[in-house]
Amino acid sequence: MAINVIKDKCKGCGICVKACPFSAITMKDKVAEIGSACTACGVCVSKCPFEAIEKTEDEDVVDLSAYKDIWVFAEQRDGKLMNVALELIGEGKRLAKEISDETKLCAVVVGDGVAHLADECYAYGADEVILIQDPLLKNYTTDGYAKVITDAINEFKPEIVLYGATHIGRDLAPRIAARCNTGLTADCTRLDVRVSSYIEYAKKNTTLDTSTLDPNDPSTGIKQTRPAFGGNLMATIICPKTRPQMSTVRPGVMQKREPVEGAKGELVEYKPTIAASDIRTEIVEIVKSTKELVSLTDAEIICSGGRGLGNEDGFKLIKEFADKVGGVVGASRAAVDAGWIDHSHQVGQTGTTVKPKIYFACGISGAIQHLAGMQTSDFIVAINKDADAPIFEVADFGIVGDLYKIVPLIIEMWDDAEA
Ligand code: FAD
Ligand code: SF4
Repeated sequence: MAINVIKDKCKGCGICVKACPFSAITMKDKVAEIGSACTACGVCVSKCPFEAIEKTEDEDVVDLSAYKDIWVFAEQRDGKLMNVALELIGEGKRLAKEISDETKLCAVVVGDGVAHLADECYAYGADEVILIQDPLLKNYTTDGYAKVITDAINEFKPEIVLYGATHIGRDLAPRIAARCNTGLTADCTRLDVRVSSYIEYAKKNTTLDTSTLDPNDPSTGIKQTRPAFGGNLMATIICPKTRPQMSTVRPGVMQKREPVEGAKGELVEYKPTIAASDIRTEIVEIVKSTKELVSLTDAEIICSGGRGLGNEDGFKLIKEFADKVGGVVGASRAAVDAGWIDHSHQVGQTGTTVKPKIYFACGISGAIQHLAGMQTSDFIVAINKDADAPIFEVADFGIVGDLYKIVPLIIEMWDDAEA
């Protein structure tokens, strides 16, 4: 879909400029011009009294072979890279290697005074860093970041762009996808390289020549897998006709690579074209939440409580447990919905995805939506009075019994072990 101005018909009346809800139209030499903020909503088409704006529904045939390399949006806050960015650099590197030896993994760092992050990106596997800096990009704004990244995508044409499914990633990725007129799969938990059946066949039969493979073959690309229908099935989604292929990926799902200190890569400084008028919001003040900060994603040990606690006070025991073992308090949605603990503690499909070294599940049944957020933990200990609870199917160590008897015993044993 595209919005086009029919120049011969445009009288320069400016009605469309006022009508556009996205401020995407400007007048240039008395002719309307559609800018990169256009979402193709079509409002201007109906408002123009001279029928000078049209919406073309016909599919543009995209030259897939013009797109190469994998980009990761290396999200930073206060000059520090988010963990999910490092995880995605690792995952992107894996995909790049599978696609071809020539495919590069590029980390896109956006902000102001953030050049120091390039070395960390190289250490975690980036071949290239695309650095986009401007004082107007100091703090995240949807308009600013969407504009400069869309412009860079249009210029460099990456084949794949990955974002962390953070608040910022979830806000940014769909806007960029709409502006690039491409697809986006949100909340992926798995990414694979998709090859045509011919390539698969050829790989198994090494005598076949794969050099003639058509890069425009729509059956190549990536398979993007995410939970669907409340986590009851996994949907695998492809983007066969447009580029870039875009995904958001939940924090904690992909593996970070071991950093290689001193690793080097190529630095590409992309000078963005951005003006204050491109940004429709103004950040007046940043107020940090006064709530206790819970960093479930980075925790090495998590002690989670569920409905089996019976009441809000049960979390006092879980907190004591977590403090004793040096962990962080997690919770099931049932406990959150009951109002016993804040949502920021929730683990699972609609909470946080975690991958600690040890995950203690206390009074949690093991519903599929909870498992979706913790089953890749290194070691799972489940405490439940129902021997048939599904949590025991994923547990490495299960204790059948009353958590109010077992948790104090573990705390006591921990004391003894420390003594
Ligand atoms: P229950 O299923 O009620 O289990 C309580 C367990 O405690 C039982 O197994 C019981 O045997 C045990 N128990 C009771 N008393 C004791 C005791 N004294 N000692 C030991 N064991 C005891 N859930 C999440 O957790 N996270 C999510 O992100 C999430 N997202 C969802 C998204 C959707 C779209 C939907 C539909 C649901 C989602 N859910 C999520 C809810 C999920 O389906 C379950 O309802 C929820 O996980 C159940 O929480 P629970 O295990 O604490 O409670
Ligand atoms: Fe603005 Fe919508 Fe017209 Fe695009 S289609 S220029 S967003 S009114």
